[in-house]
Amino acid sequence: MRITGRRGSSNVEDRRGMSGGKMVMGGGIGTIAIVLIVWLLGGDPSQILGTMDTDGTTQTVEASAEEDQMAQFVSVVLADTEEVWKMIFQQSGKTYREPKLVLFRNQVESACGFASAASGPFYCPGDEKIYIDLSFCDVLKERFGAQGDFAVAYVLSHEVGHHVQNLLGTLGQVQSARSRMSEREANALTVKLELQADFLAGLWAHHADRMMDILEDGDIEEALTAAAAVGDDNIQMKSQGRVVPDDFTHGTSQQRMSWFRKGWQTGDFAQGDTFKRGAV
Ligand SMILES: [Zn+2]
Repeated sequence: MRITGRRGSSNVEDRRGMSGGKMVMGGGIGTIAIVLIVWLLGGDPSQILGTMDTDGTTQTVEASAEEDQMAQFVSVVLADTEEVWKMIFQQSGKTYREPKLVLFRNQVESACGFASAASGPFYCPGDEKIYIDLSFCDVLKERFGAQGDFAVAYVLSHEVGHHVQNLLGTLGQVQSARSRMSEREANALTVKLELQADFLAGLWAHHADRMMDILEDGDIEEALTAAAAVGDDNIQMKSQGRVVPDDFTHGTSQQRMSWFRKGWQTGDFAQGDTFKRGAV
């Protein structure tokens, strides 16, 4: 992806230097409570414990040059999403409210609760912020084999897609519908939400390239490889050695690739209704 000569976003909140976020605490019960919360979220508590001294204070970690470069990169991608979504919202007479991007290290406190790096990048509708620990870029590469800067751009623009869903009311509707459903039905609905975010990421790439000429050879392939890598079937196969479709929450590799591709090829917002009967 070409980024030289384009602005970074003013909506980046860099909390990496804070290491432990706002969670300054003594050891003992506080630590146990946090470990439990992280465990419930599906994270890896050792990642938090690893950052604590024995007295419970957190260590400061210096950012590597590579990480700072990645911070600059995601800032430009975020700015590019602002340009595109401002334009698309304007076309339908709406105003786009820009989300914030919080860069953190190891653990973070959001309006959606505590999270650790292990839970991966996420969007919190409660504070309209996207949370990213930049170490996920290495995880993408090493664990999922998704190389290249545009794999990272895909993940960020997917999270921005959730923000768009929030502004349009889709996220709220899905959340309230989920509370009245069986787990299996709720999972199926979440899959549609996630696939739409993939579509919106593709739609973003389409318009960003038209407006700002951002794409280099191989970028779309990098995004598609990343989309395939984070498909539920692939992740389940890797982590538990079998595929359980009822547990899917994001869609298969094939579905994720095809919805991203649809957004990228059409650039047409109206094509992204994953909730329509028979669409998924
Ligand atoms: Zn998502």
